[in-house]
Amino acid sequence: MADPSGFLRHARDDAPKRPADERAGDWREVYRDLPAADRDTRVREQATRCMDCGVPFCHSGSAGCPLGNLIPEWNDLVRRGDWAVASERLHATNNFPEFTGRLCPAPCEAACVLAISPGSGGAVAIKRVENAIADVSWERGHVQPVTAGVSTGRAVAVVGSGPAGLAAAQQLTRAGHEVTVFERDDRLGGLLRYGIPEFKLEKKVLDRRLAQLRAEGTRFVTGCEVGGTGPGALSVERLRAEFDAVVLAVGALRGRDTADVPGRELRGVHLAMDHLVPANRQCEGDGPSPVDARGKHVVVIGGGDTGADCYGTATRQGAASVTQLDQYPRPPRERDDERSPWPVWPWVLRTYPAHEEAGERKFAVAVERFVGDAEGNLTSVQLRAVRVRKDPATGLREVVPVDEDVQVLPADMVLLAIGFEGVERMPLLDGLGVPLTKRGTLSCGHDWQTSAPGVFVCGDAHRGASLVVWAVAEGRSVAHAVDAFLTGASDLPAPVRPNALPLAVG
Ligand SMILES: Cc1cc2nc3c(=O)[nH]c(=O)nc-3n(C[C@H](O)[C@H](O)[C@H](O)COP(=O)(O)OP(=O)(O)OC[C@H]3O[C@@H](n4cnc5c(N)ncnc54)[C@H](O)[C@@H]3O)c2cc1C
Ligand code: SF4
Repeated sequence: MADPSGFLRHARDDAPKRPADERAGDWREVYRDLPAADRDTRVREQATRCMDCGVPFCHSGSAGCPLGNLIPEWNDLVRRGDWAVASERLHATNNFPEFTGRLCPAPCEAACVLAISPGSGGAVAIKRVENAIADVSWERGHVQPVTAGVSTGRAVAVVGSGPAGLAAAQQLTRAGHEVTVFERDDRLGGLLRYGIPEFKLEKKVLDRRLAQLRAEGTRFVTGCEVGGTGPGALSVERLRAEFDAVVLAVGALRGRDTADVPGRELRGVHLAMDHLVPANRQCEGDGPSPVDARGKHVVVIGGGDTGADCYGTATRQGAASVTQLDQYPRPPRERDDERSPWPVWPWVLRTYPAHEEAGERKFAVAVERFVGDAEGNLTSVQLRAVRVRKDPATGLREVVPVDEDVQVLPADMVLLAIGFEGVERMPLLDGLGVPLTKRGTLSCGHDWQTSAPGVFVCGDAHRGASLVVWAVAEGRSVAHAVDAFLTGASDLPAPVRPNALPLAVG
């Protein structure tokens, strides 16, 4: 049983980061590598803060962890120092806790009972405990290949090697199916590889997990666009002829643009992914990025994860200045109970490690024009203070200036991190006869099957741009559905339904 008064003896303590000026000078992960014994002691104290609250909201899919991670159970195991069983219980619900432990925004912590009252010292540092269990599991050899005892003889193709595709593939391989993951990029991992920067997830962490999947029997083919016609492509006809089921885990990688803003065509205005992908490739040893921020005044448009990653990448590339712009007003530091009461995901100011390193953020502003010189090079941006409101007539979101003042910011590089518009239009979808919804996603029935028989969907391709934790949860659930489709019934877990949504986010 948990320690009901641990939170009274131990203050919340987040994972310590390396000094900001040190980490801004390299690409390594921002968190300090503590000596193992010190880390274990500190994390055990944090796990001890998990009380016996009775009804743990942290692991409920609607408000807390979409994977249904057994958080109070492994907190108690860590408190008692039983890391081996904690690893087993964590991996029972999460294929890749070293990814979520590093990357997840932790809705579980927002839903922790200790988050109700600030006087309690704040939520249990669940994500820190999860990450430590994952790291200890690898260090002590608790993570080993899990091979299926029998083969069903049924072949499954997984298209896309992001976290959704990898989770589906691992579950289906372990259930005895012959699984092949096809990836059009030259390396595996989807956004874990080429979107999320090294300073948030070192790629060796991804590579060691991929080695486990290979050892279990999952096959991987890179440089293969499914449905394409270029070198290495796999046609839809062969896909359908050679596989009994297909999982589409193709992501939602169509970047949103600002075509209507004057000056968009100027040299120096880029989509965020045109900056992040080559920066990640450079870390992999593929040579210098053509979109490098060294010595430049960089303006990042968009306040989310992608914007923060551009911000931290530009800082590491040696930008002269970095400014991030957000159309929305600066959120409060504390939860506003009127707007987003516990346990829902709160509307609060989120400060990423990148923001502590350099640069500044501006809120409630929007770019009305990109300005260039006679050669077509970007030189500055013109900003207006704005308000975001609903158009009373149409109900649609609109951004309106609040006054006539125009601010000018010097800029040699603008990075557009204003979201994604859904699945890329690709020949594969036409070949399979799977249409895009109005939201640009792929819809499915309650069994994760699209309108094409035997073709399933999961991850961002189904939800729209989302989170790693949702991608893994959907990958696990689609594996259950495919297994049932192929064999008539499945014992695999299905943590989420296709229509699952987190409780309203403010
Ligand atoms: C810059 C950035 C930072 C992010 N940071 C975080 C974070 O900190 N925390 C978090 O939780 N989430 C974060 N996210 C979101 C998270 O990365 C995604 O939600 C997650 O990766 C979605 O997984 P997925 O498997 O559905 O798709 P993806 O990871 O997008 O993978 C899809 C894969 O399919 C491949 N593919 C597409 N079409 C084909 C085809 N026809 N043939 C073969 N292969 C194909 C693509 O090449 C790609 O590799 C971030 C996203 C971005 C863009
Ligand atoms: S995956 Fe995310 S929501 Fe689930 S326990 Fe880990 S940090 Fe919390």
